Amino acid sequence: MPCKVCKHPKRSEIEQQIAARSLTTVEAGKIVGCHNSTISPHMHSCVAPNVLERVQAEAKERQSLNVLDQLRQSRQVTLQILDRALSKGDYRLALKTLVVELKQLMFEAKLTGELNEAPQVNLVLSPEYVRFRQEMMRMLGPYPELREEVAQTLLEADAANDEVGNNGNGKKQ
Ligand SMILES: [Zn+2]
Repeated sequence: MPCKVCKHPKRSEIEQQIAARSLTTVEAGKIVGCHNSTISPHMHSCVAPNVLERVQAEAKERQSLNVLDQLRQSRQVTLQILDRALSKGDYRLALKTLVVELKQLMFEAKLTGELNEAPQVNLVLSPEYVRFRQEMMRMLGPYPELREEVAQTLLEADAANDEVGNNGNGKKQ
């Protein structure tokens, strides 16, 4: 419920000066046109929760960006391993690496969506994913135990995609 101070056009200026102690509540009351006893409740009930919320949101975003950074670095390593495995003909290792890469892709898509850094990627409908899935199933023929692991991961990918509310046009519902 906004108070009289909330509605004042110079509200943020007044708040900053009070916080910096260059303005007393009596002076602020005169500017706003209210009794000075309205100022303290405004600072406590209207300002403080917002500041806390903003600080928490910023901290969360910083943390997510760090995670995203590390995730991208570890994906580089995964791709190097995949490259080496494929060139040595070690398809078992290549498939395991692909599973790891898919998990990283899913996590990155989720994080990126949360940060609104880019439009939400619809993983399940994207052509890359469809190709990836077909290629996977073709390669999995001789490895039934890996096929099971990969199928489970693909199911999780579908579930995660539903969870974020993707409706197929790249926007959150
Ligand atoms: Zn207020």
